[in-house]
Amino acid sequence: MQEGEEKQLLSVVVSVYNEEEALPKFYQAAVEVLSTLSWDYELIFVNDGSQDQSRSILNQLAQSDERVKVIHFSRNFGHEAAMIAGLDHSQGDGVVCMDADLQHPLECLSEIVHCFQQGYQVINMVRTENKGAGLIKNLTSAAFYRLINTISDVHFEPNASDFFAVDREAAQVLKTSYREKIRFLRGYVQNIGFRKTSLYYEAGPRVAGESKYSLKKLLSFSVNTILCFSNMPLKLGIYAGIFSGLLGVAVMIYTLLTREGAPSGYATIVALICFMFAMLFVVVGIIGEYIAILFIELKDRPVYIISELKNLNGDFLK
Ligand code: UDP
Ligand code: MG
Repeated sequence: MQEGEEKQLLSVVVSVYNEEEALPKFYQAAVEVLSTLSWDYELIFVNDGSQDQSRSILNQLAQSDERVKVIHFSRNFGHEAAMIAGLDHSQGDGVVCMDADLQHPLECLSEIVHCFQQGYQVINMVRTENKGAGLIKNLTSAAFYRLINTISDVHFEPNASDFFAVDREAAQVLKTSYREKIRFLRGYVQNIGFRKTSLYYEAGPRVAGESKYSLKKLLSFSVNTILCFSNMPLKLGIYAGIFSGLLGVAVMIYTLLTREGAPSGYATIVALICFMFAMLFVVVGIIGEYIAILFIELKDRPVYIISELKNLNGDFLK
């Protein structure tokens, strides 16, 4: 760097939901690492409607350290909305999104800055091991990625996490486009193009508190992602139609050849009718899910609502 040249700025976006125990530890560890970097930094905490002491802890941090910026949501809008709000309010030449529970190692920040300096614009953090998750969570996550990669035309990096970094240009794309109400931010990050690279990290156990993602939340998240990134389920109706048509022809040929008497085919008819109706209802249900998504997008409600900003200016609604 030349003498007198301004330092680049790294924005670290941290989503916070009931993390009163983890926050002080996170802040201390983060400042320790960030102050060793060659870039300047800002720490943007997004309080996603926490009901514990996170709010007052964050306010204290913002008061004593002007590099700490805080966005308080009016209620819980979810982890994704928190990351989007952080991105929207970031000023940095590079933006990193990470969790507050120290599962995403802060040591990676220097590697991230190094990648930015080499000209990479999107840095995908790939998890090699997740010590915090159980066997079921790891297995279902692997199955989910296999499925979405088979039926969607966009490619998802398996084990990509909510830990990622984008430069100013890529952040601008996420700020202005990809504003769907039902979304999958890490999917967008992998599909906006730009000069991309991956870094690998091991997710340690949570430093304090417990996971805020229940299996139910993860399941609904997965279903929404499949519906948003793939039209394959809609095509099921066509395949099912072709299949039942062929089945009908086969049954007709069989009946003609065997000259089966009218009463003896009763079980076949009942089974076929049940099968056809089941297929029909499934297809109608899938179409219903897509209509529900269209309805949500059409209503155009804000992705998040901010109740208070500390050390920041910006829009309260987005
Ligand atoms: N989080 C959030 N809003 C939510 C749920 C979680 O902002 O509704 C934050 C949480 O505070 C943490 C991060 O998202 O910083 C990841 O959540 P968690 O660690 O519970 O998920 P896991 O690591 O178990 O997948
Ligand atoms: Mg976690």
